Amino acid sequence: MLNKFGLVLENASLENYNSYGIKTSTKYLVIPDSIDNLQELIKYLNKENIEYYILGKGTNVILPDKKFNGVIISLEKLNNIKIENNYITAECGTLLLKLAMTSIENNLKGLESLASIPGTLGGALYGNAGANGSTIYDHLESVLVIRNNKLISLKNEEINKSYRYTEFKENKDVLVKATFKLENYSNKEELLNIVKENRENRMNTQPLEYKNAGSVFKNPPNDYAGRLIESVGLKGFSVNDAMVSLKHANFIINKGKATSEDIKKLIQIIKEKVYKEYKIDLKLEQIIIEWN
Ligand SMILES: Cc1cc2nc3c(=O)[nH]c(=O)nc-3n(C[C@H](O)[C@H](O)[C@H](O)COP(=O)(O)OP(=O)(O)OC[C@H]3O[C@@H](n4cnc5c(N)ncnc54)[C@H](O)[C@@H]3O)c2cc1C
Repeated sequence: MLNKFGLVLENASLENYNSYGIKTSTKYLVIPDSIDNLQELIKYLNKENIEYYILGKGTNVILPDKKFNGVIISLEKLNNIKIENNYITAECGTLLLKLAMTSIENNLKGLESLASIPGTLGGALYGNAGANGSTIYDHLESVLVIRNNKLISLKNEEINKSYRYTEFKENKDVLVKATFKLENYSNKEELLNIVKENRENRMNTQPLEYKNAGSVFKNPPNDYAGRLIESVGLKGFSVNDAMVSLKHANFIINKGKATSEDIKKLIQIIKEKVYKEYKIDLKLEQIIIEWN
């Protein structure tokens, strides 16, 4: 039944679908090949009351260790991009790197600072991703979402959002496609240099040689989560194979066989120690997923 909506993998491993490399799995992994099929799939799952979960590139999530008894939907095949004048429209499975590079190739400026975020457009819109002083909403015109089984278009100003937060964290909308209005800009070299410099900067400051899911905590007002964690002496502290990175204390790395439980225990220890020392309640940037 499910295979009329796209590729279906049964009892699929999700190890390569989350950047922590947690060895978990799902009863079904469905990869729709068109927006129509995605919409039909959502309708079907809602009608049949089957639990589902959308995954982008899995670079911001802590998946549970136990197998999911429902349907994981991967948007990896929904990655078409269209350009009209200075508007660029991309499907939400598109990687931010591809989106930024395509805009640069077409002499469009505005997304280059986000190229080094390793996730998809959908994941970025969901979490209001940002880097190097830009956020994904800076040049956004509108987003197409599936809400109550229907496709609706939302304008940027209609979407409730703040630092690493959007209303999509509270509802069941599936983000499908987004349009950005960019600036015509012919100096490609300059934009490519921004991409390159940001990439190099990350290589020097982030533990990209290990599995991780980016910043663990949001920065509290006027401070840095990494500074606080380092100052309570937790750099290098481990729970089994989950370790606070020596390179950047706001990163937890998987040294090999870290489980979801290991990562969550380590998070709890960090929160308690920082709270004890500074009375600051660190808030997670990463998303802990729970399923039955
Ligand atoms: C090395 C590294 C560096 C990072 N640096 C940054 C950074 O500088 N700035 C930053 O903001 N983030 C950063 N991140 C975190 C992460 O890459 C971003 O948050 C990214 O936008 C997440 O995209 P994703 O496709 O991986 O989302 P996923 O992790 O797959 O999903 C995240 C959430 O979004 C939901 N979601 C995804 N797609 C959709 C959709 N189409 N419709 C509805 N819900 C959806 C999922 O259900 C999930 O709840 C970093 C991560 C890593 C590993």
